[in-house]
Amino acid sequence: MTQCAYHDQLISIRRQLHQFPEEGWTEFCTTAFIVKHLRELGYEVLMGEKVVSRKDCLGRDPKLVAQAIETAKARGVEQALLDEMQELTGCVAVLDTGRAGPTVALRFDIDCNNVQENPSEEHRASKEGWASKRPGLMHACGHDSHISSGLAIARWAMEHKDELKGKLKIVFQPAEEGVRGAAAVAASGIVDDCDYFLSSHIAMMAKSGEIITSPVGFLCTTKYDISFKGRPAHAGIEPNAGRNALAAACHCVTQLLGIPRHGAGMTRVNVGKITAGEGRNVIPVNAKLVMEVRGETGEINQFMASETENIVEGVAKSFSVGYHIEKMGEAVDLFNDKELVDMLDDVCAHTDGVKKVLHEVNFGGSEDATILARRVQAHGGKAAYFVLGSDRTGGHHTSDFDIDENSLDIGLNIYSEMLKRLMK
Ligand SMILES: [Zn+2]
Repeated sequence: MTQCAYHDQLISIRRQLHQFPEEGWTEFCTTAFIVKHLRELGYEVLMGEKVVSRKDCLGRDPKLVAQAIETAKARGVEQALLDEMQELTGCVAVLDTGRAGPTVALRFDIDCNNVQENPSEEHRASKEGWASKRPGLMHACGHDSHISSGLAIARWAMEHKDELKGKLKIVFQPAEEGVRGAAAVAASGIVDDCDYFLSSHIAMMAKSGEIITSPVGFLCTTKYDISFKGRPAHAGIEPNAGRNALAAACHCVTQLLGIPRHGAGMTRVNVGKITAGEGRNVIPVNAKLVMEVRGETGEINQFMASETENIVEGVAKSFSVGYHIEKMGEAVDLFNDKELVDMLDDVCAHTDGVKKVLHEVNFGGSEDATILARRVQAHGGKAAYFVLGSDRTGGHHTSDFDIDENSLDIGLNIYSEMLKRLMK
């Protein structure tokens, strides 16, 4: 396989970003890096409320955001740029060719995981000195490579703008992990004028040289933080005066795990975390559950979500405690449009390095690009999501995760060829 002209840039930017990962909604340094790069290329860059609807942000922790802004300042991000961001991360690059044609959106996610990177020499990034410099945070899903791919395609489009017609929007989306960011980006209306939408993920279940042009089985999901509020009392003197939030939370867990399977399709439910109580001899006042449901279709997921809400309400009532349910994330299902799948197949057949094109492979997880894709499809636009295969070490979201960086060349060639065909 011959290396593309952007090969070195693809890798060096990926490794640069890899060293300073930022979790969802805190990507201020990352956004600043992207914005500066795009402006140097000559792009108009939209930020803040123009691309993220503040009231539709899910799972955004104001404390983490405030800390991250201080970190960004300390790392030299200019106040003027931070002001433009309006405490919201992510940005959209816009290239208007000035010639009549379609509007095409490409979407790349930019956040990292809460994973501690493997510091041992067996792990390439640690051995070569470009591992994460932030304890407990790591680009362990490859979004660093998504950003470098987005910036490389931005450069390609600018260098080839005389051959393109219509408008290009490159969306750098915050907070994909926990499927928190896309709903707010969609609600900003930024993709409402798009005729085509494309996005992709590196690696997953596909090896280097493999492209999955029609993954299926994107699970709809809803993420909830559930809290119970009890009343404290001395556990020996008058437990009867207390209201036990911990007991409510425990009952809630077993009931949630007992939501019936759905006859019409796959379901999932997981309670991933429980925190509760204050001390040995105090009736517990506070309890919190961090959980999620998934369903094969929107309807099935809605069944899981409604059951969850019923159970929480019922358990709270039975223990006479208060409760609060907060939606923290959401993704929907997706069916790629045939027009784009056919085009992707044909592009792949002519792309150096592509050995195998796969169809109907089960994605098996959730991805919030689906919300943006669905938004484009809802007004008659076409959307597709593909998996860019890459040999990887370690699983996604683990401390050993790494990719075969040569696959980024393939991804860039696919995106640029798709733009040539869509914007001609
Ligand atoms: Zn990911």
